[in-house]
Amino acid sequence: MTDAATTTSSFTPYGVWSDLVGQDHVAAELAQASLGHGMTHAWLLTGPPGSGRSTAARAFAAALQCTTPGEPGCGHCLGCRTVLDGTHPDVLQLATDQLSIGVADTRHLVRRSSLTPASGRWQVLLIEDADRLTEAAGNVLLKAVEEPSPRTVWILCAPGRDDMLPTIRSRCRHLLLRTPPAAAVAEILVRRDGVDPVRAREAARAAQGHIGRAKRLATDDVARAKRAEVLALASSLTDIGSALAAAQKLVDATIAEAKRTAEERDAVETAELRLALGYQEGSRKAVPGAAGALKDLEARQKKRATRMQRDSLDLALVDLAAFYRDVLAVQLGALGGSGGDVTEPIHDDQYAAVRKVAAAGTPEATLRRIEAVLACRKAVERNVAPLLAVEAMAVSLR
Ligand SMILES: [Zn+2]
Repeated sequence: MTDAATTTSSFTPYGVWSDLVGQDHVAAELAQASLGHGMTHAWLLTGPPGSGRSTAARAFAAALQCTTPGEPGCGHCLGCRTVLDGTHPDVLQLATDQLSIGVADTRHLVRRSSLTPASGRWQVLLIEDADRLTEAAGNVLLKAVEEPSPRTVWILCAPGRDDMLPTIRSRCRHLLLRTPPAAAVAEILVRRDGVDPVRAREAARAAQGHIGRAKRLATDDVARAKRAEVLALASSLTDIGSALAAAQKLVDATIAEAKRTAEERDAVETAELRLALGYQEGSRKAVPGAAGALKDLEARQKKRATRMQRDSLDLALVDLAAFYRDVLAVQLGALGGSGGDVTEPIHDDQYAAVRKVAAAGTPEATLRRIEAVLACRKAVERNVAPLLAVEAMAVSLR
């Protein structure tokens, strides 16, 4: 324990680690492992969404293939660069935009794991959303993790340890990423994305430590507009009628956002597949089985759309919960500069609306509202129809 603490304080992120925000303790341990200190064949990286699990996993993979002697991921050698741009022959990465990862995809990785590295030091298999492995896929993976080939490294990412089969997680070394502080997130938005410092600070706070979300809020006007609309709901709920209307509006906004993102990708994928299957412009001839392949793609795209809508709704609910958290802070005198222990508001730009809602209610009522928002998140996670869940929430938010 003391060893880890010592390494942490002396580690300055550089090279492949420089995009990892506020996770020096994890970077230090992975960098050491890539140099052979405390190396093992299976790793589990967990942390809240947006904390940088995949960034950490990719940096580790790069460090493992780094060819600069004695460096844990220099960031400029061929090994580091090809891992980071996804072309290294000995790093296979599985990411999914589906609700689950099936047996076929997992088998593909397991087959690769038994191969000797072509050019690198290790054969690296990286699963970004390991919590989405189906039970059958998990069992396929388990066999490979139980008896790894000597030069193979598995890197699994998941929100929490409990999201993995106990039999798998017990065979992995576990590292926990934390929610990065807003100041660190703002700093990387300025340094990496060239965002104006004031806007970066506001976006970093509003995103509550989710780095990707902070970037979208800082750089995408549509994302900012949707957030403002979601937060406006909190001030517009008066009676049952307005609550139900607001619920419908919120669900529609998340459908529209998901659709906007999905449609472009769907069109490109479908066009590519049609071309590959030999569909000619203006003709319906194609290779046998083409219609089935197109149908498969359509089914996958539909599942992805469901997931995107759910993610969009979940983000909206996180924003809403944070709005009421600000309301509660005002009601308890912890916001707005009466001295003492003053917290900073999450939604800095919504301060007027927050004060208005705060003045109209009690802390007890606000706590009840926060609970209603969290219950809605849980319901959506359990596959309750979004509109039903949001309606139930909106009615109790009045
Ligand atoms: Zn390197």
